[in-house]
Amino acid sequence: MYDIVVIGGGPAGIEAALKAGEMGAKTALVERGRLGGVSTNDGCVPVRALAHAARLARESDQFKLYGISGSDRPQVDFARVLARVRDVVDTIHVKKDLQGQLASVDVDVFEHAGDASFVDEHTLALGNGSQIQAQKFIICAGGHGRRLDFPGSEYALTHSDIWSQTSLPKRVVVTGTGATGCQVASVLSAFGADVWLFERSPRILKTEDELVSQVVAEEFTKRGIQIVYGYAGIKCLEKQPDGSFIFYYDIDGQERSLECDAVIMAAGWPGNTAQLNLEAVGVKTNKRGYIEVNDYLQTSNPNIYAAGDITGLMMVVSGATHEGRLAAENAVLNNRRKYKHKIAPLGSFTDPEYAGVGLREYEISDDHEYVVGIIWFADFVRAVIDDRTAGFCKLIVDVDTRKILGAHVVGERAVETVNLVAAGMSSGLRVEQLAELEIAYPTYVGIVVQTAREAGRQVGIYLANEHMPDHKMKPTAKSLH
Ligand SMILES: Cc1cc2nc3c(=O)[nH]c(=O)nc-3n(C[C@H](O)[C@H](O)[C@H](O)COP(=O)(O)OP(=O)(O)OC[C@H]3O[C@@H](n4cnc5c(N)ncnc54)[C@H](O)[C@@H]3O)c2cc1C
Repeated sequence: MYDIVVIGGGPAGIEAALKAGEMGAKTALVERGRLGGVSTNDGCVPVRALAHAARLARESDQFKLYGISGSDRPQVDFARVLARVRDVVDTIHVKKDLQGQLASVDVDVFEHAGDASFVDEHTLALGNGSQIQAQKFIICAGGHGRRLDFPGSEYALTHSDIWSQTSLPKRVVVTGTGATGCQVASVLSAFGADVWLFERSPRILKTEDELVSQVVAEEFTKRGIQIVYGYAGIKCLEKQPDGSFIFYYDIDGQERSLECDAVIMAAGWPGNTAQLNLEAVGVKTNKRGYIEVNDYLQTSNPNIYAAGDITGLMMVVSGATHEGRLAAENAVLNNRRKYKHKIAPLGSFTDPEYAGVGLREYEISDDHEYVVGIIWFADFVRAVIDDRTAGFCKLIVDVDTRKILGAHVVGERAVETVNLVAAGMSSGLRVEQLAELEIAYPTYVGIVVQTAREAGRQVGIYLANEHMPDHKMKPTAKSLH
C-alpha cells in the first residue's frame, strides 16, 4: 500500500507527487493520458505557441512603416502552424523530463492508465482494470471545457479540437469571452479568419478590471473581430450540404443567424469530477462543479486532499503548483500549513495582451480611499518606438498605506510587465518606492515606474525625498519617459 497516491499528472499533480516523494512518503502518480496536463498538452504551451505564430503573421503589418519592403501579408499554412505547435509541445516534454524528475524521488508513475475512480477510501480502480491502494489520496484531476447542449451542438468544437484541424476555418463563431475565448478569437483573427465573439453580458473578460475589458474590446473591434453582446442563447447549429454551418441565436427577443465554418465553445471550465466516483468516498463538490476543500486543501473525506483546477481556487499554473505542494505537505505531515491566497499575477496572450494582479477596481468597497494612476501606451516611449501604442498601465493605490492594491495592464508584454508589480506587492513596496526603482530604459516594464509616479502624485507624496513624507508635491508637467 502506498502512503500517497496522486490522481492527475498536470502541474498540481506533478508538484504534489514530487513534494510527497521528497518528504519520503511512498508515492504513486496516476495519469489517464500523457503527463503534463492541460498546461503542457492543451493550454499554456500550445496556445502560447499559436499566439507566437499569430504574432509573426501580424508583425508584417509594420513592415512598410519601418521601411521594409516585400510581398504582402505572409500566407498562413494552418496545418504547418499546428505541426509546429505539436513540435513545441514535444520539445517541452523532453526538456521537462517529468518521468525522470518523478523517478528521482522514487515516485511510481502510472501513465496512460485511463480514468481512475474510487472503489473505497483506500482503493482506486484504474482505467486499465488494475487497482491501487493508498493511505491518502490527492486529487489533481483538473478541469475541461464545458460543452453546451443545443440542437447541433455535436458539430461545435472546444479549443482542444483546434489541434486536430487540418485547415483554418474561414468564418468562426466563438462563444464565451473569458481568457480562452478571447485568446482563440485573437489568434484565429490574426491568421485571417473572420471572427464573431459572442458574450451574454455587456462586456468581454467580465472578471477583469472594467478598463481591461473596454480596451481589449476596442482593439479587437479595430482588428475586425465582431463582438456580439447580450445574446440570450444558442438556438441551434445547422450543418449545410457544403460542410458550413448556420448558427442560430436569440438576441433582444429575436432569432438571428449567421453563416460560419466553425463554432468554438469557451463557456467555462468545470472540474473533472464525473469519472472519479466521489460518492463512494464522501467527497463533496460545490455548485460550480469543483471539489470543496478546507484551509488545508483537505476534502470532506479527511484522507483525501485536492489541488489545482479541480478546486476552482486559482485556475492558473502558479496556483496549481502552489496548491499541489501544500496539499502534499498537509497530507504527509497531517495539516501543518493553511492555504493562503498569494499575490498571483494572471494574464492572457491575446493581441494586445492583458494582465492583472491584486484587486480589480470594482472589487474595492466605496468606503476604501484609493487613487488610480494610469499611463497610456500612446504616451510611453518604448511603445511609441515600436508603434505598439494600444493599451495602458493602471495602478490602484491605497491612500492610507500607499501600498498597491491592484495593477492592470493591457498592451505589449503586459503579462511580463505585471510581474514587476506582483514582486513589489509581495515585498510590500509603497507606491513611492515603486516609483523610484531604476529600470533599464527604454523597456516595456518601465511603464510600471512611470505609472507609480503618476499614482504617487495623486497620493500627494513628494517623490524626490522619502524623508519628507508629509511634504506635498507641486503639480509637475506631464513628461514622456
Ligand atoms: C486554453 C488554455 C490556456 C491556458 N493558459 C494558461 C496560461 O497561459 N498560464 C497559466 O498559468 N494558466 C493557463 N491555463 C490554465 C492552466 O492550464 C491550468 O490552471 C493548469 O493546467 C491546472 O493544472 P492542474 O494540474 O490542476 O490540472 P490539469 O493541467 O488539467 O491536469 C489534470 C490532469 O489530470 C488528469 N485526469 C483527469 N481526470 C483523471 C482521472 N479520473 N484519472 C486519471 N487522470 C485524470 C488529466 O488527464 C490531466 O492530465 C490555461 C488553460 C487553458 C484551457
